[in-house]
Amino acid sequence: MTLIPSWYALANAADCPFPLNNLPCGVAAPAGGAPRCVVAIGDAALDVAALEAEGLIALPGGPYLDRPEWNPLMVAGRPVWSALRARLVELLREGAAEQAAVVPHLLPLDALSLHLPFRVAEFTDFYSGRNHAFNVGTMFRGPENALPPNWLHIPIGYNGRASSVVVSGTPVRRPWGQINGPQDDAPRFAPSARFDIELEMGAVVGLPSDGPVTVAEAEEMIFGYVLLNDWSARDIQAWEYQPLGPFQAKATATTISPWIVMAEALEPFRTSTPAREKPLLPYLHEPRPMLFDIALEVALRPECGEETVIARTNYAEMYYSAPQQLAHHTTSGCPMRTGDLLGSGTISGATRDSRGSLLELSWGGKEPLEITGGTRSFVEDNDTLTLRGAARGEGFTIGFGDCTGKVLPAFADPYGGRERS
Ligand code: CA
Repeated sequence: MTLIPSWYALANAADCPFPLNNLPCGVAAPAGGAPRCVVAIGDAALDVAALEAEGLIALPGGPYLDRPEWNPLMVAGRPVWSALRARLVELLREGAAEQAAVVPHLLPLDALSLHLPFRVAEFTDFYSGRNHAFNVGTMFRGPENALPPNWLHIPIGYNGRASSVVVSGTPVRRPWGQINGPQDDAPRFAPSARFDIELEMGAVVGLPSDGPVTVAEAEEMIFGYVLLNDWSARDIQAWEYQPLGPFQAKATATTISPWIVMAEALEPFRTSTPAREKPLLPYLHEPRPMLFDIALEVALRPECGEETVIARTNYAEMYYSAPQQLAHHTTSGCPMRTGDLLGSGTISGATRDSRGSLLELSWGGKEPLEITGGTRSFVEDNDTLTLRGAARGEGFTIGFGDCTGKVLPAFADPYGGRERS
């Protein structure tokens, strides 16, 4: 697929993350104004809520865009999602008759504040990156027992907290928690000293379900994808995770990119999950390739210093695709809801510079990572961590916008002087 040229010429640059091929969905507010649904194009956000209010967008069963969240459109299903994209291409493509009517609704992106693009119903995080699972398992149990026996058969996951999900740019406060490390004689309550990131993609569920769905049906339910940083306190996690998995270690914050890239925009970048090491049960078989070739990177910027790109990898490293994860999620009859967010699991490649967490990059802190002007084992106070993603086609790029968060120092007293007992 090649670039769809727009009369908004800035969108036609090969490295612009928001060409007409992309049209990602966000919620933005101008200074002093109310948040509304927008779509990114070039260096601007198109106020699609205003276009719908004026009748320039009229979708069957609508209106869908009169609230500051994409959930009403997400529940409408693929034909309506496609109809919106087709109409936007009509309005924005080179030679469009409605250009003059659309121009007043282009808002400069750098003057907008970006909000969560959808109301997160529930959040589930998976563990489907093979290299990540192997690396972490090796550190905890040795290479022979690195992968748990179920890992090659089940997309392992846990139920997270929708309330923890924040939009890119939201500061993240270093958490306190119960820690009992190798140097400790007894559990203690302290700020996390091993605070970390996890580079993930998030799949956004549009259509709800009630009862088990097939992998093919699951794919039809997915509205789009975001970048996702699953902030993780490794010292809290190591003490609390057995036997039910992570709890407070993962509940501080989960940052997502401000733009949902619709699944349809990623069609040209379909790719396969890797060859199966163990045959999957039939309900997990993919009828066609359901992963996407999306180049990913993590950058770290200290408070006073330059940014270093600390990892580069690709979404194609996943062992299970989002439709496989979603299908597995419903096997019990678990109902899925519009606005459910599914984290992919940390995406690590096979080489050291492609690992998607500091835990792996510094090998548990044993091999600190070189960054410009210093080293890192885990995230330090006032570091800014940024995830970026790009699917590159012929003469165009599909971007997600930065998924960024600055880590603030832990509170001196998280209870603000109140008696804890
Ligand atoms: Ca995770």
